[in-house]
Amino acid sequence: MDSINLSNKTDWSFIEEVAEKSGQNPSLCYQCGNCTAGCPYSHFFDYPVSQIMRLLQAGQKDTILNSKAIWLCATCETCTTRCPCEIDVAHIMDTLRIIARRENRVSEKDIKTFYDAFLSSVKQFGRLYEVGTLLTYNLKSGNIMTDADLGPKVMSHNKIHFFPRSIKGKDQVAKIYERYQDKAKKHG
Ligand code: SF4
Ligand code: SF4
Repeated sequence: MDSINLSNKTDWSFIEEVAEKSGQNPSLCYQCGNCTAGCPYSHFFDYPVSQIMRLLQAGQKDTILNSKAIWLCATCETCTTRCPCEIDVAHIMDTLRIIARRENRVSEKDIKTFYDAFLSSVKQFGRLYEVGTLLTYNLKSGNIMTDADLGPKVMSHNKIHFFPRSIKGKDQVAKIYERYQDKAKKHG
């Protein structure tokens, strides 16, 4: 784990942007550490989630957006449920990831590749097409054989389907994406 450096200039507009987009008030955090104590991924983070909160209060934009933690967060929401100040910490982590993505600061490229494959599958079929998502991820990430050994086992239990299955209303799902993309273009 890296130790935090709060000496860079405070980026007040970044703090405001995260607060506005997440609807949360980071200044309420008093560094009790409950979120980090419950986070199942802390061991893999470069900065535990409570330190991300401290960095955010200090407006350390570059450190946060270049961190691995915001990409490795699994959005399990344990931090949110444990926070005595009722801060939706997981939503803040989501918001940070969205801003990092927008600014093309992707410290964990494979994770972004997986998100992209997942979202594109839902947009196309209205639901997740597991095999297609996995193949897209494997090809784009270069990890060609990832989970290849699991395929036959899972399929033999009829858990996933080889061919995609659409849902009724998949056009409406695609429209949700379009609305979001339009909104993102307008508001940055
Ligand atoms: S939502 Fe992310 S930061 Fe919060 S506990 Fe889960 S993995 Fe950790
Ligand atoms: S649990 Fe809440 S108050 Fe405590 S360190 Fe985490 S964000 Fe801050």
